[in-house]
Amino acid sequence: MNTTAKNEQNTIFSQGDKANPDYFTGNAWLNLLVNESEFNSVIGNVTFEAGARNNWHTHPGGQILIVTDGTGYYQEKDKPIQLIQRGDVVKIPADVKHWHGASVDSPLTHIAITASTPKGAVDWLERVTDEEYNSYKE
Ligand code: MN
Repeated sequence: MNTTAKNEQNTIFSQGDKANPDYFTGNAWLNLLVNESEFNSVIGNVTFEAGARNNWHTHPGGQILIVTDGTGYYQEKDKPIQLIQRGDVVKIPADVKHWHGASVDSPLTHIAITASTPKGAVDWLERVTDEEYNSYKE
C-alpha cells in the first residue's frame, strides 16, 4: 500500500507512517525523527506521492523544509506556487499561511524542522483545492 513513493525515490530515511488524512490530500507518509519536548522542535521526514499535498496551515514558530528528493510545490497565501526540488531549503516565517507537497508528476521528500512553541507547532486549516493545486505555472 505504501510502496509507490518509496520505490521511485532515493530517500535517506524510511517512510514511516501514513500521514493523517484529515490534514493531507493524497498519499503521504511521516517519519518523526525528533519529537522530544526537550528539544523545542519537531523534525519529520515527509514523503508525498505525486499529486499529494498538505492542507493550508501556519506554524506559530516557523518551519524550515529541506528537500531531499523529488520535485514539489510550496505556496504562501496570495502568492504563486513555487517549484521546489532536491537540495532546496525553504524558510517559512511564523504565522505565514502556506502549504507544501509533491508536484503533479513527481513525488517529493522533505525534512521538516518545526519550532515547538507554547502555542504548538502547527495550526491546520482548510484543504488545498484541486483548482489551487493545479494553478502552478512554469
Ligand atoms: Mn508547513
